[in-house]
Amino acid sequence: MSAHLVKTINELRELLKSRRTGKIGLVPTMGALHKGHASLIARSVKECDTTVVSVFVNPVQFGVNEDYDKYPSTLEADLSLCSKLKADFVFAPSVAEMYGENVKQGLHDDLLTTVCPPFRMVDRLCGKSRPGHFDGVATVVTKLFNIVSPDLAFFGQKDAQQVIVLKKVAKDLNIPVKIVTCPLIRDDDGLATSSRNTYLSASDREHALSISKMLFAIKKAFDAGVVDTEILFETGLSVLDKNAGLEYLEFVDGETLEPSKTAKKGDLVATAVKIGSVRLIDNIIL
Ligand code: AMP
Repeated sequence: MSAHLVKTINELRELLKSRRTGKIGLVPTMGALHKGHASLIARSVKECDTTVVSVFVNPVQFGVNEDYDKYPSTLEADLSLCSKLKADFVFAPSVAEMYGENVKQGLHDDLLTTVCPPFRMVDRLCGKSRPGHFDGVATVVTKLFNIVSPDLAFFGQKDAQQVIVLKKVAKDLNIPVKIVTCPLIRDDDGLATSSRNTYLSASDREHALSISKMLFAIKKAFDAGVVDTEILFETGLSVLDKNAGLEYLEFVDGETLEPSKTAKKGDLVATAVKIGSVRLIDNIIL
């Protein structure tokens, strides 16, 4: 059976009506699917009776100078992957279908009701350099929750801050969904799989490999007993390729995102690095 492509909210709601006796799983994505996404979809198919994969490049979560216009789009390939994995529906609405007219890249809070997660959770890590990003993510994911009413929703540890923030949003807004965090998937060479990896040239990719090496070096030092985050920071930095531009490398509590001065088990070490113009994120749990 191939996955059914659905473009409108009404059609999706109609199709889901007869499925509500079983569990509905939602996997929100921006498309250009890779094996990281595939792991989430496979998990939903395994745990739920119906799986909806949304493919929507959300303009509202991109800053005005970010890569919204050139974000990769591979809908045909995405559909066949979803079919192969036995997902039921691929929901790929237009921007107008999701937001009506006039909402474009960047946050348009004069046009739109938005969901704003607590500032102290988003004023750090990715949120620091991408102001408004998590408001855009929280807004679109809340809309998807309202459209699909899933029992479970699957997100990747790759976007660690995102899943923590979304759990908080669902809790605070009493959205009856169980958010499942799925493990971060890497290529064999250690690079975290990402739709943005397609932007990397062969030499960029070589430089990008130092990102996971940096995180692995930190974990190794922590496992050997180093807990001072300044020392762990320096240990990591010494491994990062000189061609890579560090945006941040932070040690935070794995549940609250509060900064850790002394590293402890379960802490999140998260980083964003620019390789040329490509911004990549990665993280590891201590
Ligand atoms: P995106 O299409 O980048 O918005 O990602 C959609 C979902 O896939 C998010 O929950 C991501 O965390 C997850 N995801 C993306 N890359 C990976 C990966 N390498 N491992 C696990 N999950 C991932």
